[in-house]
Amino acid sequence: MQKLPEFVEITPSASIASSAYGARAKCLQRLIRLDMPVPLSIALPFIEVRAIASGHRPDTKSLLEGFGQFPLISVRPSAETSDWGGPGTILNIGMNAATTAHLADTIGQEAADKLYRRFVQSFSVEVARLDTEAFPPGQSLDGALAAYESEMDEPFPDDPAVQLLEVLRSMARAWEGTTARLLRQAKGAPAEAGLGLVVQRMALGLGQGECGSGVIQFIDQATGAKQIKGRYKSQAQGREALTAEAGALYLTRDKRGESLEERCPEIYAELLAHGARGRIGLREEMQIEFTVEDGALRILDAVRVPRSSRAGVRVAVDLANDEVIPRQEALMRVEPQALGELLHPQVDPDAPKDVFASGIAASPGAATGRIVFSAPAAQTCAAQGDACVLVRHETSPEDIRGMHAAVGVLTERGGVTSHAAVIARGLGVPCVVGASGLAISSREKTMTTVDGRVFREGDVITIDGSRGEGLAGEAAMLPATLDDGFATFMAWAEEFSDLGVRANADTPQDAETSLRFQADGIGLCRTEHMFFEDDRLTVMREMIFADDAEDRRAALERLLPMQREDLLALFEIMEGKPVCIRLFDPPLHEFLPQNREGVRQLAEAMDLSVSRVNQRIEALREFNPMLGMRGVRLGITVPEIYDMQARAIFEATVEAARRGAPIEPEIMIPLVSAKREVELVKGRIDSVAAAVRAETGCDFGYQIGVIVETPRAALRAGEIADHVDFMSFGTNDLTQMTYGLSRDDAGRFMGAYVQQGVYPEDPFHILDIEGVGELLLIAADRARATKRDLTMSICGEHGGNADSIAFCRMAGIDYVSCSPFRVPGARLAAAQLVISEAPERQKATLSQWIARRLKLRQGGLPNEV
Ligand code: PEP
Ligand code: MG
Repeated sequence: MQKLPEFVEITPSASIASSAYGARAKCLQRLIRLDMPVPLSIALPFIEVRAIASGHRPDTKSLLEGFGQFPLISVRPSAETSDWGGPGTILNIGMNAATTAHLADTIGQEAADKLYRRFVQSFSVEVARLDTEAFPPGQSLDGALAAYESEMDEPFPDDPAVQLLEVLRSMARAWEGTTARLLRQAKGAPAEAGLGLVVQRMALGLGQGECGSGVIQFIDQATGAKQIKGRYKSQAQGREALTAEAGALYLTRDKRGESLEERCPEIYAELLAHGARGRIGLREEMQIEFTVEDGALRILDAVRVPRSSRAGVRVAVDLANDEVIPRQEALMRVEPQALGELLHPQVDPDAPKDVFASGIAASPGAATGRIVFSAPAAQTCAAQGDACVLVRHETSPEDIRGMHAAVGVLTERGGVTSHAAVIARGLGVPCVVGASGLAISSREKTMTTVDGRVFREGDVITIDGSRGEGLAGEAAMLPATLDDGFATFMAWAEEFSDLGVRANADTPQDAETSLRFQADGIGLCRTEHMFFEDDRLTVMREMIFADDAEDRRAALERLLPMQREDLLALFEIMEGKPVCIRLFDPPLHEFLPQNREGVRQLAEAMDLSVSRVNQRIEALREFNPMLGMRGVRLGITVPEIYDMQARAIFEATVEAARRGAPIEPEIMIPLVSAKREVELVKGRIDSVAAAVRAETGCDFGYQIGVIVETPRAALRAGEIADHVDFMSFGTNDLTQMTYGLSRDDAGRFMGAYVQQGVYPEDPFHILDIEGVGELLLIAADRARATKRDLTMSICGEHGGNADSIAFCRMAGIDYVSCSPFRVPGARLAAAQLVISEAPERQKATLSQWIARRLKLRQGGLPNEV
């Protein structure tokens, strides 16, 4: 056996870094420095634990030397960041016949036997991995020892050094297990994250005098409001008080029952004093685990209070307002993506709803999307910009990427701590688990409810993760309640960030949400979305089917007022904030009926024969529609469409000004790849503007720009810039075209690609800064060389992703635009960049910076205590 110099007693002056010994060891050292009565604790570093996992046998005999003749200890996990979890704490190591006899003198035989029995039970289940059924509640000590011996074919280990060795080995190995690894990676832990362990002298909650244990915290974990919470139980250990069915005391005076404050006022006062000191010293809201040992208080452990996103924001704001931490730090404490959860709408409790399944409310918030039955289908759906709900029997680690892509998760099996529940909460995705009674067939792609209804892939459902319900169709939603803490927090973020944040918004509702989240404007209004509603779709189809220019003009004339009114509504809501309107982009066939019934209806509406309609559909069919007649190509070949849209924009502008909401619209041309395209379209837009000015007698300004979505547009950005006022990077298509990777189909193999390290991440989710990013940099450089004051932005999905935002800021982008719910997160990400990287940004070369970002991406943001 080898003596291990790395064991370190945790003292005020010991050298203990959380990067080597873990957050718990570091935290205990801080508690000791704050003069809290922490029992003797020894820390084991990551390298030691890793060696133990691979077979190394530590010298536990010498480790136990400092713990006296009858060592009685616990072992707690200490990961680098407490959020990354770890195996459960094991208490009462060292119990054997001799220790029991020794303890019986001071705490009594019954209490001593109880400790021994508990240890045998937890060792058997947690360390020897025996079935819990062999160790039922109420079992005697002898029964537990006999059960162990009969299952293991050997007596229960007596020697504390052997017991400790086995505990250390089992905890070390548990950390290396695949499930543990995947779970922590889902929380941002790097693949090689280490585990430290803390061996601590037990403070006994059992025995003579006042003995017991409890947990105290000073906030409500759901809201973050200041409130003393917790429980204490006499003659108890660990966290028993929290789960005790009877006998647990409230901490503060409470009408409902006896409290620690009344029973032991000095201990209560001492706890409050430690709590207040801990909050300031640790600069965090901590949950403190304590034990009372014959009237003396011991502080065993403190962890960051687990909290909802809402509470996370409130605590950060309160700590900054109380001057415990600076505002910058408050902003750094909240992960941008956590804001998404906070902003989730809830199902309106007063609106009618059609519940098809009930289960466990596993992750809060509500979301509506189309049913998908597999993770790849979820990724495909998300890549197409469609919201989807992942429906599974239960989820497994291979589903994590699909869960990332889904807006909601519904499982037939599982409980509050099942894989689906744990992961969904971590991701902030609304989730219902254990919706028993559903019959899900992934092969048939159907879900049958108890009452016999059948849902198929693509059907729209709503997940209410706050109530545990699955609802048919799109349920009426209430927007999230944003408290004062959130408003203050976002105001600070705005103060620190130096990047504009706009929203991608196509409807008045989107625009209102954007404003509520303080978007600086609309960075992308996809006008085609305005034509999908029933009444418009028919007119749109008439336009597409028009035999000649005159018929087409007639249909467009009917579309004009609809488009104008939609835009006017947006302009009015946005109250002068900028609105960037993208001209019609998708291939026309997307508007055509997809099935026989649709064809028949269209034939009827247009008084055409079915065969004529089919012929027209056939004529419009393309082999590669995404690379075909779409975007500006349509604008050039069927110019009347863009003419109508330009007129709608300008007439709405004039009317908005009349109504007191003046605006300078920004008109964006999609899918360009050549400057001549821009010249042609710009020429027509300018003439429509001149006509509207003449007709209305009103003057107005406007800007024309392009969305850079093709590699050629990026390469030729220098000459395109000559003709435009702004450029926005449409990184969805730019990624698709740079990789030659279909955004609609990549989900099928993305999992395999990422798993095998072909791509570090899904490039549709996180911007590929090495490839697509290089194109973006080339475009930005060339465009700015032509026109220094050109406004540049990004409006692909990446605009809401923190890593991609970091890159855009480095590239000199003026603003990012993302879906409304991602606006606060994007703003926070931008503020965090200013706070954490200001000096580095000036010094680092671009390649150093990119290398650092790639590394940072693996580790996530620091959020440990
Ligand atoms: C893009 O391609 O990045 C973009 C914003 O346009 P869309 O997603 O509508 O194709
Ligand atoms: Mg696009």
